[in-house]
Amino acid sequence: MSEITLKECQQLVDGWVNTIGVRYFSELTNTAVLMEEVGEVARIMARIYGDQSFKKTDEQYDLADEFADVFFVLVCLANQTGVDLAEAFQRNMAKKTGRDKERHANNPKLR
Ligand SMILES: [Mg+2]
Repeated sequence: MSEITLKECQQLVDGWVNTIGVRYFSELTNTAVLMEEVGEVARIMARIYGDQSFKKTDEQYDLADEFADVFFVLVCLANQTGVDLAEAFQRNMAKKTGRDKERHANNPKLR
């Protein structure tokens, strides 16, 4: 499972949604769900690395599982909008590399 490709993730999610999930939620609903899931990650991060503290009822958390929730909904949206995530990610990394090749190296705040 750890060797799964982004294309396989998109196919796996599509198969799951169209069987167990019945159909995709609308794009707008999934956008809202994505924000909810990002909020769940933020809540944990604020308590682990930030100044917030856990309530007794929140002490059982699974950051990796929340990252996976975010990724699942993102994959749903990619499938619904016709985005090939592997291709998009490679193109995005090339863009970042070209743009930031010297920018971060020359940033004194990063030293
Ligand atoms: Mg979640």
